[in-house]
Amino acid sequence: MSVAENIAEIRERIEKAAQSVGKKGSDIVLVGASKMTDAAACREAVAAGIDALGENRVQEMRLKISQRAYDGAPLHFIGHLQRNKVRQVVTGEVSLIQSVGSNALLLEIEKAAAGLENFIQPVLLEVNIGEEAAKSGFLPDDLQAGAELALTLRHIEVRGLMAIPPFDATPEENRRYFDRVYALYVDMGRNLFHNNINNININNNINKWDILSMGMSGDFEDAIRAGATMVRVGTSIFGARHYNKS
Ligand SMILES: *Cc1c(COP(=O)(O)O)cnc(C)c1O
Repeated sequence: MSVAENIAEIRERIEKAAQSVGKKGSDIVLVGASKMTDAAACREAVAAGIDALGENRVQEMRLKISQRAYDGAPLHFIGHLQRNKVRQVVTGEVSLIQSVGSNALLLEIEKAAAGLENFIQPVLLEVNIGEEAAKSGFLPDDLQAGAELALTLRHIEVRGLMAIPPFDATPEENRRYFDRVYALYVDMGRNLFHNNINNININNNINKWDILSMGMSGDFEDAIRAGATMVRVGTSIFGARHYNKS
């Protein structure tokens, strides 16, 4: 199966899952998680109409930008971001950083974005929904404060939440995690935007609280049924990753 055929098949599955909750497939943003794929595979996905490509590693992303792998599609950063690499990501080239997991990182992104001309960096807050010690992301209890900080930062636009449930969760547990993230997303939208989940102007940006990014190859249909507006699919589009190759 080619990348284009895989994307077509995923779109059909997205359409069905979306319809089951009264949405359309086109309401769901499909992000191709393209870590460890080459520029040619990324270009194939762009040609096949992927909504965005998401990268995990700064160095790999910089290389593939130089190879023009993403031309024609928005680029997202979806991996763990170290503070000392923020300046390589906040350049105006990345249209959404999905994986902002701490106040310190928010402040670093603000500093970098403020150094660019006329640029506001859209971000999602990553929530460590399983409260796993080894995983980055805001703990659920710290999320509201993180969002409130983000809303004071003039070069950041906070658009919603991203989450990855624990790797070893059963499908049933996984669905419960998705439900919990959805509940947080809705509650925060209410608290932060006073029941107005549309446009609101707090830090002089037009903030929209409109993106809930959850679901990967193994569980994106469950995520959509739980309320995801964005899914990040790697293996089912690009094939298995070979971690032993450089
Ligand atoms: C790799 C990755 C994905 C996609 O995972 P698959 O199981 O290959 O679909 C999604 N989100 C993030 C943050 C990832 O690192």
